[in-house]
Amino acid sequence: VKQVYTFGGDARHDDPRARDKLLLGGKGANLAEMASIGLPVPPGFTITTEECVKYLNEGADFSDALRAEVAGALGHIEKTVGKKLGDAADPLLVSVRSGARVSMPGMMDTVLNLGLNDETVVGLARTSGDERFAWDSYRRFIQMYSDVVLGLDHGLFEEALEIAKEDNGFLNDVEMGSKEWHALVDEYKAIVVAEQGEPFPQDVNDQLWGAIRAVFDSWDSERAKIYRRLNGIPADWGTAVNVQAMVFGNMGETSATGVAFTRDPSTGEKAYYGEWLANAQGEDVVAGIRTPQYLTRKAREDASAKPLSMQEAMPEAYGELEQVFGTLESHYRDMQDIEFTVERGKLWMLQTRTGKRTAKAALKMAVDMVGEGLIDEATAVARVDPMALDQLLHPTLDPDAPRDILGRGLPASPGAASGAIVLDADTAEKRAELGEAVILVRIETSPEDIHGMHAAKGILTARGGMTSHAAVVARGMGRPCVSGASGLSIDRNARTVRIGHRELREGEVITLDGASGDIMAGEVPTIEPELAGDFGTLMEWADGKRRMRVRTNAETPADCRMARQFGAEGIGLCRTEHMFFDEDRISAVRQMILAENEKGRRAALAKLLPEQRGDFHAIFEVMAGLPVTIRLLDPPLHEFLPQEDEDFEELADAIGIGADTLKRRAGELHEFNPMLGHRGCRLGITYPEIYEMQARAIFEAACDVAAQSGEAPIPEVMIPLVATRRELELMRTLVERVASAVFEEKGRELDYHVGTMIELPRASLMASEIAKEAAFFSFGTNDLTQTTLGISRDDAGRFLGTYVEKGVFARDPFVSIDRDGVGQLVRLGVERGRAERPDLKLGICGEHGGDPASIAFCEEVGLDYVSASPYRVPIARLAAAQAAL
Ligand code: ADP
Ligand code: MG
Ligand code: MG
Repeated sequence: VKQVYTFGGDARHDDPRARDKLLLGGKGANLAEMASIGLPVPPGFTITTEECVKYLNEGADFSDALRAEVAGALGHIEKTVGKKLGDAADPLLVSVRSGARVSMPGMMDTVLNLGLNDETVVGLARTSGDERFAWDSYRRFIQMYSDVVLGLDHGLFEEALEIAKEDNGFLNDVEMGSKEWHALVDEYKAIVVAEQGEPFPQDVNDQLWGAIRAVFDSWDSERAKIYRRLNGIPADWGTAVNVQAMVFGNMGETSATGVAFTRDPSTGEKAYYGEWLANAQGEDVVAGIRTPQYLTRKAREDASAKPLSMQEAMPEAYGELEQVFGTLESHYRDMQDIEFTVERGKLWMLQTRTGKRTAKAALKMAVDMVGEGLIDEATAVARVDPMALDQLLHPTLDPDAPRDILGRGLPASPGAASGAIVLDADTAEKRAELGEAVILVRIETSPEDIHGMHAAKGILTARGGMTSHAAVVARGMGRPCVSGASGLSIDRNARTVRIGHRELREGEVITLDGASGDIMAGEVPTIEPELAGDFGTLMEWADGKRRMRVRTNAETPADCRMARQFGAEGIGLCRTEHMFFDEDRISAVRQMILAENEKGRRAALAKLLPEQRGDFHAIFEVMAGLPVTIRLLDPPLHEFLPQEDEDFEELADAIGIGADTLKRRAGELHEFNPMLGHRGCRLGITYPEIYEMQARAIFEAACDVAAQSGEAPIPEVMIPLVATRRELELMRTLVERVASAVFEEKGRELDYHVGTMIELPRASLMASEIAKEAAFFSFGTNDLTQTTLGISRDDAGRFLGTYVEKGVFARDPFVSIDRDGVGQLVRLGVERGRAERPDLKLGICGEHGGDPASIAFCEEVGLDYVSASPYRVPIARLAAAQAAL
């Protein structure tokens, strides 16, 4: 099978493999696609990801077949450009670029200007008529190749350049002339010999294969691995290699390089957006060495910046670029993120991909594009990442709160964050692990900082534009970021930063506003998010497409209210034990637990009844007209007991017995394995009076609310940890008995249901028996995961990370449901339960109810609803819609 595909020139793309993103990587496939729709793309070829995987697995050398294919494809470039690699008179130069299936910003390294050596540099100077350009390109090549392919310390080269500038009395690279670059090349070559004991490779074929090998190897670099782990990218995808004819943005003032988005990736505004630099090459724009300039006149004026925009400086090339934007958007029907170069006035496209965007921008673009007729509603719903909504649901800075502004940078990624200043990624990770909110403050970030950026609440950098590494990665992660804060300096030895005229120590708290670029001292208060507008529109479309209902897990009126605002259609899990911990009743709870006999327990329960009734009353008022699933007491009783001696004494005083007696009773409640101990319905079966009190509180409150408001809630009483039919039969009878009694006393009948959680493997297996007693099943997948895998959720932290790293689990099974194992039990429970009782209502109430991948699974097995924590409700609504599309 062919492993090398050409693009550009007269290359043909009719082989289906030649358009396959999985095979050619995103960059290669899109270069071919751009060429095929007639955009100006320098010719090149792509070596497949398949070849990379083979290379990494077999660790073998490149095959003769591959060498022959590459030689043929190189011929395609040479023929199209009319130059030959290594030709001393008129040399072809190429770039060697990595490109995985999904973009991994900055993870893989690119080598530019490959093909230069001591002879071809002379030819390049002659054919270009620009000596300075030729030697500048050669020194760039040696520096990049030495870093990426030879693995030499790039600091050595940077230092040599700094010294060269100093010696010549220059401030900027642009002041270096051909003579100075030539001299620097000699020094660079000397560094290479000193460092590796061998001269810089002069054979252009060795250069090419060395670079190809380096791209393949970079797939397994540390930073690529970290990025993959954070983004759930499989290790066995591999990367493609793209070899492409060079075009030069560094051929003087009529040349340039830049990056652009077809819409604003921060706000979603339909405005061209980007940065460019005249007389520059490749990474200069994103590396933050020179400050890039605005693309459009309007953006420059809005920022009251002086250096001319590309629109003003190169109107013709810019005009062409605008046309390309239009072509790309109507072809891809989505916002594109592109890289381009202008060589002596001629525009070349070097990359396009679907642009990363903030959640706010994703919403706006999706809604706008439906309005423009570019996409339909279903596409819009499918396009917004449910997890990204999280960014929008959280608070932003209170505009009326006083701000002590220290300085300002670029609004690189929106959202607000407060935290302690930390100066390096490792410290950020360490302090965040201890639960501290931190802001990572750096001169600029690099791929080595990713773990720290992930751990931080926000990121602040001194250098770099809106498309710098910090900005791109922060937007992808949903972290607020302020970049290019020129008034910021860092003293790494003293561990202090200076912002404007103020000095702060590491650990002092600052606040970032990623929407304005403001940097503030201390913590600034925040306000609730706006749920109307584009958010409301998209959620409405989503609601129109989903089949499953979305409920919430909540037990306080405040949470219930918030969840209703977020669109919850009922409560899927109200955990009554949370109410038992409240200060005003924990003492009564403890008296109940420590009572010697039923009489003592009933006395204590009598005190709890009005409290519980009050709890349910408040919740029913908020949820009137909607189903409310209430789980009766679930955790082992000793969880409520005092821990400290003085608490025991206080309690003993309150009850009027000795502290020692109390401690002895508490000791009797000790369990070796409480998770599998005296909990769930086992409590209700041994101490029926507890569940009786809870059932009474539920029905009394429901009747009261119905009498008050005319709109009755629909209580669904849920019995936890059922393994057998008999357990549920006993508990159902108990609840029904209490309900009848209350209805008689109150003189009104209400609709209600009794059902169970399915959270033990036996319950799933015996679902047809259990369904005889249940009006509904709610899959408690937290416990079901624990009990199926035999892994304690509370202790799994010690090894789950390693398990995921070593590929035992693809993802943490407590975050995303284990489809194959736990999922099979859910499926079984659904099938057997429904077969017995077709009207059985089915839902899920574990943490998985808010995880998009698990929600897709719930749709697949046909659950009626998912239930998620309040902030996850919109995420679940969107994910449920996507699952149904
Ligand atoms: P990354 O994936 O890190 O963005 P790229 O392969 O896109 O790496 O290369 C980085 C930059 O190098 C590009 O944005 C472009 O400016 C420059 N570049 C790559 N190939 C060429 C080329 N053939 N001619 C000119 N510049 C190039
Ligand atoms: Mg790129
Ligand atoms: Mg449970």
